[in-house]
Amino acid sequence: MAQLSDLPIRDDLRGQTPYGAPQKAVRVALNVNENSHPIPADVAVDIVESLAAAILSVNRYPDREFTELRESLAAYLNFSVEPATRLTADNIWAANGSNEVLQQILQAFGGPGRSVLGFPPTYSMHSIIANGTGTRWIAGERDADYELSPETVTRWIEETQPDVVFLCSPNNPTGTPLSIETIEAAYAASSGIVVVDEAYAEFAPEDVRSAVTLLDGRDRLLVSRTMSKAFAFAGARVGYLAADPAVTDALRLVRLPYHLSALTQAAAIAALRHAPEMLAMVDNIRDQRDRLLVELPKLGYPVLNSWANFVMFGGVADSHALFEALLEQDILVRDVGIPNHIRVTAGTEAETTAFLAALAAL
Ligand SMILES: *Cc1c(COP(=O)(O)O)cnc(C)c1O
Repeated sequence: MAQLSDLPIRDDLRGQTPYGAPQKAVRVALNVNENSHPIPADVAVDIVESLAAAILSVNRYPDREFTELRESLAAYLNFSVEPATRLTADNIWAANGSNEVLQQILQAFGGPGRSVLGFPPTYSMHSIIANGTGTRWIAGERDADYELSPETVTRWIEETQPDVVFLCSPNNPTGTPLSIETIEAAYAASSGIVVVDEAYAEFAPEDVRSAVTLLDGRDRLLVSRTMSKAFAFAGARVGYLAADPAVTDALRLVRLPYHLSALTQAAAIAALRHAPEMLAMVDNIRDQRDRLLVELPKLGYPVLNSWANFVMFGGVADSHALFEALLEQDILVRDVGIPNHIRVTAGTEAETTAFLAALAAL
């Protein structure tokens, strides 16, 4: 058997490490920010009926334009974010997870000879997708407490002149907010594509504006979203994008034909019919997040502010040791490589209780 290094792999992929959050069967999995509430039974039945109907025509290729899914996603955004101008299917793009959307963005707007600016610590896939598409990754720096001010983002864009800017709102793995002013400043400073990754937007406080509300008149602004987190649909792999219709024309140049299977489309359309019910658990998850923000400091672990469904806490003497000690208790958390910090997802009330009790007992 050959070693990876024996293969004639691209030079720029040599020595890289793949995305690698551990996948383990545990009692309490709080490591990848999934929604740990199961899908409501009546929604599951509706999805299965839609899948049953769709399977009868899988001898044919699916709708390459996934028009009904785009209409459903536009309706969901119009209902939940109230953009200044109503979105239509022409404003929407979708793929197998927002990771695939981000990859298509860099295939179309990045690539060899081009650069993407991000602000680590941030979502690890942003730089991995940059590497995979041959786009040069520029690592900007954040302000104190991992926040990002309009001045800082402007300075980095002016100094590095990237072709693409990746902003993560709220940021993963820190959970920290990104203000609408910072997004406006990034757009004003840039002449390239500005991507706002809103994977966790539904968990933000009620009065927070989505970057979707900034789309009018900003044809280089792209807002990516996912059904993986708030929508409890991680296993189905559906991510999407809201932007100017011209952006979706650009993505059509790089997508593989029929990239969204008929089954994926049917399942997502059915789930979106039940959006309020699918999102009913979000309030509950927010409560557990707020509980972690209050209880962790009481146990001696200072927290970063979070608008997401997870909390990053510090004060950990040895992150790896704490990860292992919790795993002994069948609880999986995330060591993201920030020294003395651990990230934990807000789960069900019972899971959060189990985590806090195990931590207190250590
Ligand atoms: C989880 C996550 C995603 C979602 O990826 P999918 O491919 O849609 O499952 C995207 N961005 C960030 C910042 C995330 O944390």
